[in-house]
Amino acid sequence: MPTDAASTPDLAALALPHVAALHAYTPGLQPTEPGWVKLNTNECPYPPSPLVAAAIAAELGGAEGAGGEGASLRLYPEPTSAALRAAIAAHHGGEDSGLGAANVCVGNGSDDILNLLVRCFCGAGVGEGGLGRGADSGAPNAASGRAGFSLPSYSLYPVLVGIANGQSVAIEFDRTMALPVEKIASSGASIFFLTSPNAPTGVGFGEREIEAVLAAYDGLLVVDEAYAPFARESALKLLARYPRLVVVRTFSKAYALAGIRVGYCLAHPQVIALLDRVRDSYNVSRLSQVAALAALSDTRYYAGVIRKVAATRDAYLARFASEAGWFTYPSQANFIFTEPRTRGGEMGAAVAQAAYDFLCERRVLVRHFPKHALTAPFLRISVGTDEQMLTLWNSLQAWLHDA
Ligand SMILES: *Cc1c(COP(=O)(O)O)cnc(C)c1O
Repeated sequence: MPTDAASTPDLAALALPHVAALHAYTPGLQPTEPGWVKLNTNECPYPPSPLVAAAIAAELGGAEGAGGEGASLRLYPEPTSAALRAAIAAHHGGEDSGLGAANVCVGNGSDDILNLLVRCFCGAGVGEGGLGRGADSGAPNAASGRAGFSLPSYSLYPVLVGIANGQSVAIEFDRTMALPVEKIASSGASIFFLTSPNAPTGVGFGEREIEAVLAAYDGLLVVDEAYAPFARESALKLLARYPRLVVVRTFSKAYALAGIRVGYCLAHPQVIALLDRVRDSYNVSRLSQVAALAALSDTRYYAGVIRKVAATRDAYLARFASEAGWFTYPSQANFIFTEPRTRGGEMGAAVAQAAYDFLCERRVLVRHFPKHALTAPFLRISVGTDEQMLTLWNSLQAWLHDA
């Protein structure tokens, strides 16, 4: 491969200008060496159900006489993840909730689903002026091609919009993190991504608040419920009454399967049909499909996992707020968003950075989001096992002593 600068053309110049200018999503660190207390990417601290490994082993074992170990891997997976779609619909109440397989799309992680939604509803060169409003505005819901999201929220949304060369509409929260319903309603976006419980704050929005958005906003509302299994409320029940609602879920957090990459959405069959048009034909591998099916079948195991994580979360929410006296949002997720404060009462971005660095030196990994004024003074701490949390807590006490 030629490497000297003189003979290498500027290959980026051949790329589309918006791609050449892209900034990629910054994932949390994934250290490869052992010894870290890893509380930075909201993974589950407990293993997945034992049924998952058994299902993967059975798939690899060629149980149907396909001809030797791993022989089924010769074959493409079922392209629509049909069995998994049906199981997901049943898991969320099935016919009693008005949900069937036609209401479900499965993706290679929920990031894949978010990407498919952007592919369908966001892009360059669509009509001016946003959504049609009122009786005189012609076709209702005329596409603006713009995608909205709140700040702060999951930072993948603007990256996906950038890849699609679409326009973003960012709605700023204030420090209360209350839902700015009117700003969403007047955003002019064809599609709006709302994270609930929100990331990285952990603040959950109730069914009534989501309903207020649906009543005021006439685009497609995507509620990204990656953390909903840890929350009191969900938007799921609204699906039956609001065809413009999409609820996105993942196996990565509550199901302890971040490594298997399965996520899904529940939506009106018309939305699902659009997603299926733009989806990779084989977007979910054989092993991923059987793993997710096995996980769904073990609701008792996961109820226990979720109960444990929520109990640890609540214990440490109380500890941070009352023992440390740090401002901490009332998290309904599997992480805690807290504002470090020195013994002298100092707070702010530099204090949070210093606490982060101190923890890092002690091999405790959390997350700091320095780029936004509302997040920079905080640390996001994924809820680990009680033992991991105690290590974190003791390290923070040591930092307080020095700081
Ligand atoms: C973790 C997370 C996701 C990504 O989930 P995957 O299914 O692993 O792709 C999506 N949205 C939010 C808000 C998340 O925190």
